[in-house]
Amino acid sequence: MSIRRVIACLILGGLACAQTQQPASLRGALVQSASKPPAIRIAEGRLVSLSADDPVAAVLNDKRLAGLDVEVTGRFTAPDRFQVDPIHTRPVFVHKNGKRLYVTYWCDLCAIRTYTPGKCQCCQEETEIDLRETEK
Ligand SMILES: [Zn+2]
Repeated sequence: MSIRRVIACLILGGLACAQTQQPASLRGALVQSASKPPAIRIAEGRLVSLSADDPVAAVLNDKRLAGLDVEVTGRFTAPDRFQVDPIHTRPVFVHKNGKRLYVTYWCDLCAIRTYTPGKCQCCQEETEIDLRETEK
């Protein structure tokens, strides 16, 4: 393989990499649908469909987040598809009043914080959504 060809491969490989592999974040209005995966309507009006693990999908389908200015971290797998990072990386944020807030869930009774919606693991009461500037 010639040097020129090696360089061309590196450049092309790098471009392909930038499109699909590089960590990215996606921000826009969160669009929920009963029949389709959640999506984000980005600034230019295009819908980008979100794939996520179950706990993250539960957050993205939380009705309390519908239509909000949401940011997710992950990577593009196609121009209109975005794979959201796993829940332990805290990949979902809400932008509100100029702040980037973590999405957390809080049980007031037990003072337990979780990162997916649903019942408190302790008292089985429904947790409240709690948008916070810090993760904990
Ligand atoms: Zn509880």
